Order: sequence, then structure tokens, then C-alpha cells
Amino acid sequence: MKQDDFSTLISRSDPGPGDGGRTGSWRVLRPVIDLGACIPSKTNKRACFNCWFYCPDGVVSKTIPPVIDYEYCKGCGICAEECPAGAISMIEEAHFMEEKNDECI
Ligand code: SF4
Ligand code: SF4
Repeated sequence: MKQDDFSTLISRSDPGPGDGGRTGSWRVLRPVIDLGACIPSKTNKRACFNCWFYCPDGVVSKTIPPVIDYEYCKGCGICAEECPAGAISMIEEAHFMEEKNDECI
């Protein structure tokens, strides 16, 4: 068999939202983008997008500003690690639950 023929035998797919189910429920830490520090957001230029590039689940949009789909973001923190501007903070989900509870009172 020629080497080129292997390409027809290999199953592969690109990562995309929902490939692993609704992984947002796994999240303990939520990535939050500070738009004042995010490079494309503050310069209005299509630059950087490391968060989009490195997110293993493909849940960050390549838009200005970048938007994270929390339905599927599992909170791995890779985007925060790879952000050159330090614009992404990983915040405990419990913090947002407290906020929601405060709204109910
Ligand atoms: S990696 Fe950081 S600076 Fe770059 S687009 Fe994402 S949030 Fe903005
Ligand atoms: S924490 Fe960041 S890299 Fe990880 S799944 Fe969520 S958006 Fe993607």
C-alpha cells in the first residue's frame, strides 16, 4: 500500500462545540475576558485570537470581541494560559451562583 492510501483509512475530525456533550456543566472555573485588556477588543484589529486558536473545544469565537460559549466551555484554563495580554481570568463558578442568588432576594 502506498503511503498516500493511509489517508483514506484514518478517521479524523476537527474539534467543535458540542463534540463532548454539554461540557459547560463540568466547569469549576469560568474564563472571563477583560475587554479593556484584550488586544483585538481594545485596538479593534483582527489580531491575536490565541484564545480562539488554543481552545481545545473550539468554543471561543474569532470575533471582536471574542466570545466564549459557556454552554460548552469546560473551564480548562488553556485560553487564560495562552492569552499574551493576561486578559482572561479564571473565576470560581461559585462566585456567579452567589450573584444569581443575590438577584433572587
Ligand atoms: S488571547 Fe487574550 S488578547 Fe488574545 S484575543 Fe483572546 S482574550 Fe484577547
Ligand atoms: S477554559 Fe478556555 S480553553 Fe478551556 S474550554 Fe473554556 S474557553 Fe476553551
